[in-house]
Amino acid sequence: MKIIKEAEGGGGAVLGPGDLELIGALARRPLGPEEVYTFSVRLCDNEIDRDFERFAPQTLEELAPMFVGKSGIFDHQWSARGQAARIYKTEVIWEPGRVTRAGAPYCWLKGCAYMMRTGSSRDLIAEIEGGIKKEVSVGCSVARSVCSICGADRTVCDCGHEKGQEYGGQLCYATLEGAGDAYEFSFVAVPAQPMAGVVKSARRDGGQDLERLEEEAALGRKYLESLRSEVVRLALLADRELSGKTVKSLVDKLSPGELEELRGSYARRAGKRFPLRTQLSYQAENAASREENRAFLA
Ligand SMILES: [Zn+2]
Repeated sequence: MKIIKEAEGGGGAVLGPGDLELIGALARRPLGPEEVYTFSVRLCDNEIDRDFERFAPQTLEELAPMFVGKSGIFDHQWSARGQAARIYKTEVIWEPGRVTRAGAPYCWLKGCAYMMRTGSSRDLIAEIEGGIKKEVSVGCSVARSVCSICGADRTVCDCGHEKGQEYGGQLCYATLEGAGDAYEFSFVAVPAQPMAGVVKSARRDGGQDLERLEEEAALGRKYLESLRSEVVRLALLADRELSGKTVKSLVDKLSPGELEELRGSYARRAGKRFPLRTQLSYQAENAASREENRAFLA
């Protein structure tokens, strides 16, 4: 079962002992501290999320090594310039004193990522430092989705319990178990959260939420717009035989969930055609991004 989650992004991180060796192994050449920029990302945690799902701490432990070496893709503006980050180290962090909605001790999977410092990455680094790139969308696959009420594996059978409902005062949620694989993560410039926020706020009563609701709806529309144009771009990049007009009219009919799935899939395909060029010189990177831009215009 494929899982895609939004999480909080991160901020700058200081290079620890051994970090340069780990990064050098991924970059396939030794790198100096002045050549790389490192930052941390909150990939996923064991809190019950808005889909009433949570990762088991054991699943986070299993995912930890799977995320090492995975790349993070930025939005259109940056990925078109060949900018990408890569996770070189992961760790499950326990936060003493903090408990989840299910009453369990809270833990999260931290990823440390690096980017090459080049002339063209300076502005992007400033955006990460400034907290603009705060949200990440993370994809992985798990084997089981276990019902909190009856323990049934929901990927195999429908136990009839509805996530988010209470049964005898007990909240129904699913615990994701058995990590299969971790995929690339992407940075979302406009938070994806408001999309869910719209649905959740709409269910609440009371006028004081109206202003927030409108704000969130506006953010949601902005996000949807940028998501649509991103999918169109990636689709044209992945398949040069498609016409822009056809793709646009198709994309307009898709739901946000379908769009996010397509974006992930196309981004991976585009990533295969235009793989990470972290070890190339600035000049070569420029040529490569011209190539990618050409693909977009074609
Ligand atoms: Zn059940």
